[in-house]
Amino acid sequence: MTPAECGPVLDAMIEAVCLVDPKTLRIVGANQVLASLVGLELADFVNKPVVELTNAPEDLFFWEDVAAGLADHILSETRLRCMDGVAIPVERKVSRVWLSPGNPVFLVGVRDLRQQRLAEEQLEDRMAELRATLESTGDGILVVDTAGAVRHCNRRFVELWNVPPDLNMDDGGAVLFAHLASCVQDEAGYREHLDSIANDPEVERTDVLLLRSGRMLERVTLPQTSRSRVVGRVYSFRDLTERLDAQKRIETLAYTDVLTGLPNRLLLGQRVAVALRAAQRSGATFAVLFIDLDRFKNINDSLGHSFGDQALIEASARIQQTLREVDTLCRVGGDEFIAFLQEADAFGAEIVARRILDKLAQPFMVDTVSFSLGCSIGVAMYPEDGRNLDTLIQCADTAMFRVKERGRGNFRFYQPQMNVDLLSRVKMDHAMRQAMDQGLFRLHYQPQIALGDGRLLGVEALIRWSDAELGNVSPATFIPLAEESGFIVTIGNWVMEEAVRQALAWQEAGQSVVVSVNVSALQFQQSDFVERVAAAVHGAGLNPALLELELTESILIRDVSETLARLHALSALGVSLAIDDFGTGYSSLAYLKKFPISKLKIDRAFVMGLPEDEGDRAIVGATIAMARALKLAVVAEGVETAAQRDYLQGLQCEAFQGFLCAPGLPAAEFECLRAHLPGGTAQPG
Ligand code: C2E
Ligand code: MG
Ligand code: MG
Repeated sequence: MTPAECGPVLDAMIEAVCLVDPKTLRIVGANQVLASLVGLELADFVNKPVVELTNAPEDLFFWEDVAAGLADHILSETRLRCMDGVAIPVERKVSRVWLSPGNPVFLVGVRDLRQQRLAEEQLEDRMAELRATLESTGDGILVVDTAGAVRHCNRRFVELWNVPPDLNMDDGGAVLFAHLASCVQDEAGYREHLDSIANDPEVERTDVLLLRSGRMLERVTLPQTSRSRVVGRVYSFRDLTERLDAQKRIETLAYTDVLTGLPNRLLLGQRVAVALRAAQRSGATFAVLFIDLDRFKNINDSLGHSFGDQALIEASARIQQTLREVDTLCRVGGDEFIAFLQEADAFGAEIVARRILDKLAQPFMVDTVSFSLGCSIGVAMYPEDGRNLDTLIQCADTAMFRVKERGRGNFRFYQPQMNVDLLSRVKMDHAMRQAMDQGLFRLHYQPQIALGDGRLLGVEALIRWSDAELGNVSPATFIPLAEESGFIVTIGNWVMEEAVRQALAWQEAGQSVVVSVNVSALQFQQSDFVERVAAAVHGAGLNPALLELELTESILIRDVSETLARLHALSALGVSLAIDDFGTGYSSLAYLKKFPISKLKIDRAFVMGLPEDEGDRAIVGATIAMARALKLAVVAEGVETAAQRDYLQGLQCEAFQGFLCAPGLPAAEFECLRAHLPGGTAQPG
């Protein structure tokens, strides 16, 4: 076969090929693929010296050797010179073949590498980009294949993990991973993590690693996929250490009270938010205590601020001691604290409140100065009183305020009527003044009955207000409001006159009965209070013994000498004095001894639980026994059941008042009831 006869075979080939005569080194046959690659028509291409296609010395030397009979094949990448002078990258293979015996030719096959080179260059660019990207991130990055062999890691990775420069990374990853495991505090946990990833190659995970060096790293790991096949895994590590340190510093500054080191309102808010979310799922309850130091302002003003600061630090430490670890104590203002009790019910809150009262009642000692502080506490419960912190604090504050009004040094649970909102306060204040102008207030009279023989001992005048728009408004709602606005003075004056008028009417009808009138603190403090009482009694010509004033403990606590003088003046008038709601305030019985008082009224709160409640039994029993020792009469309030009455009678309590006999009644109805009581009429005594 001659080279010319090979034409159809060469044309049939997909590759670029030609035949070269070893003696002349000329092309003796070729296909169009090669001719086109070089940039010629096939006819022009044949017969060309093969060296015209060469561009590299290697090819020149090869063909020289061929001519000298020294070489018979070559396979390598080289450059092919084209007609336009451009050399293109190719792979070429030259082999000696025999078309017929003793007649060798050289078959040249050429593969165009331009596409491949382009792809390689693009890949190289991509890789460079990727490397730059990996190096430019602040995270440490490690890329491994599915078997764990290291494919890539950046400098930050080396730095974070302190990878030794001579560590062998080409051993399939074993040495590197052993190094990493040795760096973490929980080595076993680290290995488990690797195992679990090996078992589940598609897993994505984020967690935090603590290194022995003290660093804290966030680890994110993702599978690396290519054409939806997992081909490896990428780990990225972020150093949280500094961020956490900085965060801690910021937190300390932003979340604590500088003086006491206690959490501040902001931190409290966050803790409560977490607890609220949990409580919504678990149904847990909790309590908010608003604690206000009682005599702090005095201490601060008289002994100086640095002294006051010491007192605050000491007070906060004492309160803190009464709380559990899970509770939060926070200082919200000068001498105001909030204790947030996790998972506490009313019972638990009460125990804590009592403990705090007890701790703060103990004498303080700062710089050899001994003094007493005490505190008032309002308690609000989640969820009954409010479903967010602000509302709960407001309620607890309101309750605390009531404690202050009632003489401090105690605690109180929030009750909804404490919190008539501002709008309705304004509205109600207005309505109250109108009611006074329009004469809408009335007095009802509730009998006080001797426990011994059921005789009528007296009546308590209770104010009633029936408003066209607001309906029947309870004095428990509007009296505190009137106390706040000062309108109580007007109301109190009216009550006094009306009660005296009624008492006089009964006196003149030969039906004399002692009428008790509630006096609020503000009213009592009016400079003309004693004169008004005197004027009312004398002006009307009422037997002063038929008037009794019910005072709250808070009145007695304030400004003792002035109070004492007033009480003596009232007593000298011949009116009698009683302490109302005894037990809810601050006073001790010994304290009461100083005052010209003849009667104690035990608050309904302690009577309610009789006879079952052990605590109530103890309080009521002790009060009655000590009152007897001080020669004071005792009236139990709010007696609703025969069992309560019988129990009180057993304790030799003088009298009771309550629905068991009658609620407060209009004068006429009271007169009907009275006709049926033993004795019919009662004389002052
Ligand atoms: P208070 O002086 O302790 O009066 C007793 C309260 O207990 C009255 O409530 C009375 O109706 C209620 N009560 C009596 N027996 C029972 C009972 O068996 N069960 C129950 N659940 N309650 C009973 P009221 O009339 O709503 O008065 C509430 C408070 O408002 C009084 O408590 C008093 O502090 C004040 N208040 C009433 N009238 C006047 C007033 O004319 N002037 C002043 N300053 N305050 C008044
Ligand atoms: Mg009363
Ligand atoms: Mg009372």
